[in-house]
Amino acid sequence: MNILLVGSGGREHALAWKLAQSPTLDTLFAAPGNPGIAQHATIADLDVTDHRAVVDFVRRQQIALVVIGPEAPLVDGLADNIRAIGVAVFGPGRAAAQLEGSKGFTKDLCARVGIPTARYFRVTSKDGALACLDDFGERCVIKADGLAAGKGVVVATTSAEAEAAIDHLFADGPAEAVIEEMLEGPEASLFVLSDGTTTAAFGSAQDHKRVGDGDTGPNTGGMGAYSPAWVLTPDLEERALGEIVRPTIDALAAAGTPYVGVLYAGLMLTAEGPKLIEYNVRFGDPECQVLMMRYTGDLAALLLAVAEGRLADEPAPAFSDDVALTVVMAAQGYPGTPRTGGAIGALDAAEADGAVVFQAGTALKDGQLVSSGGRVLAVTARGADVAAAQRAAYAAVERVDFPTGFFRRDIGAKALIDG
Ligand code: AMP
Repeated sequence: MNILLVGSGGREHALAWKLAQSPTLDTLFAAPGNPGIAQHATIADLDVTDHRAVVDFVRRQQIALVVIGPEAPLVDGLADNIRAIGVAVFGPGRAAAQLEGSKGFTKDLCARVGIPTARYFRVTSKDGALACLDDFGERCVIKADGLAAGKGVVVATTSAEAEAAIDHLFADGPAEAVIEEMLEGPEASLFVLSDGTTTAAFGSAQDHKRVGDGDTGPNTGGMGAYSPAWVLTPDLEERALGEIVRPTIDALAAAGTPYVGVLYAGLMLTAEGPKLIEYNVRFGDPECQVLMMRYTGDLAALLLAVAEGRLADEPAPAFSDDVALTVVMAAQGYPGTPRTGGAIGALDAAEADGAVVFQAGTALKDGQLVSSGGRVLAVTARGADVAAAQRAAYAAVERVDFPTGFFRRDIGAKALIDG
């Protein structure tokens, strides 16, 4: 079968790398793609915000499956427009993508069906937001409602911080926001495939959101991750599936907007059990890189089964027992303005011992690979445990020649201390 992969990040490079290993694949196309993705796919000259152009391409190239990597095209309804011509899509339609597109939508759904999550208020004005603060004491979390690329959340530990966040959020007048109780506990990400009615767990991971070692500095899209997340024990995973994910999938099916794709549940493992922090309607980046390093099956066949509503006929997704760990190499300046155009080399040397360097913000300039965005590479390796995976990943990182890049030196360290 021919597949079109939509996206251009490290997540999509990892998907392309794994899809290219699938015996059921004929030709893999990707748009917009990047130089790493181009090693495994034919880059299609397509503006993916032009849905009509994407649909025409899908028809012309006899695409049997479209895999949509990032959230923006999902929230924008690209999956609906492709399904409308009868082609299978891995990724939810616009209505189900509201799980990520609107935090208020998700909180209301949780309240309606009794899914454990932080107590919350939806607000649309500064006065309304300030009025909620009394309810939560000093600590609360302030969230812009819509897509914010991981930058719309402030975890406030004093009233002054909360008020400053509210001032900032409503600086331009009314806005949609959620103010919620602060949850405590370790965090874990759980990935679940859903074909609309049937679900299958697809691994877990822990990411490292802050830019600096020891979880310091501003939030980023993610500076590293490892899988599986040891804190999410089989018992807690079963609870999260039963109490959080399946009721969500059932509620969307009952509403006539079935969820098809991967649902990424950000969980807080509180003293009372797992609670939902947020949903994402796609694989995490860089969590996808570590999941793909551990998944051992035919990804193209599995994603097609999801997209065609045949997940019940598939065996449970199989993963290597190894731990996979990825270290993001970012361009200096990130998460502010990243320095672009920095030369990157020695990727072959970095991959010599089995590591894989997934590319995100890279471009080719006169035949030279250069940085073109904030997060540039995700250097990913496997090992028998976290320590071994960490050693292998950092050995590969050290071999990469990227003088204008930087990376965290403690990815996985917390697992070693706490575990
Ligand atoms: P989100 O963009 O919703 O994933 O939030 C980003 C980060 O903020 C999460 O990964 C958590 O670390 C933190 N966070 C969000 N909501 C809460 C909450 N209710 N309690 C504690 N931390 C939270």
